[in-house]
Amino acid sequence: MEAIYIPQLLKLPEQTETITFEESVEGLDSLTPVRGTMIIAHRGNFLEVSTNAETIMTLVCDRCLKNYNYRLSLKISEMIWLKNPSPSALTGEREIALEDLFESIPINGYFEPSTWLYEQLSLNMPVRQICSQNCQPPKYQQEQFHPSLDSRWSSLAAIKKQFEQ
Ligand SMILES: [Zn+2]
Repeated sequence: MEAIYIPQLLKLPEQTETITFEESVEGLDSLTPVRGTMIIAHRGNFLEVSTNAETIMTLVCDRCLKNYNYRLSLKISEMIWLKNPSPSALTGEREIALEDLFESIPINGYFEPSTWLYEQLSLNMPVRQICSQNCQPPKYQQEQFHPSLDSRWSSLAAIKKQFEQ
């Protein structure tokens, strides 16, 4: 997706650009292209960006350590403040403006749909990646919970057994 020159949006019907895409997103290691739509609306002092997107990712299960495919779908809307080049920044007197508290880009700059989409997809990756509800940890991990199966202890266990007899 190409960068959008923000003032250009004002010339479009309803100041809105709608993009349909199916492409790989740079930095995102997805199995299939990311597919969806994005609506970018100019609302005067902010952009309202919303998307409905989907892709399939290959993830590594946190529990069994196997690869599995995960359908990552995203339905999100975000406001991005448009800031005027601020004269107060030059004088050093700087008030805390609302726009400082949110993501903001210059009003006469560019909006990068691909970068924004990459950020949103990254933020929506599952925190805990588990392939299925009944997956099991690999064997060597299970054995850690049973010290008696550890070979370092087996000789000691054998001696202990001798004393018990
Ligand atoms: Zn698993």
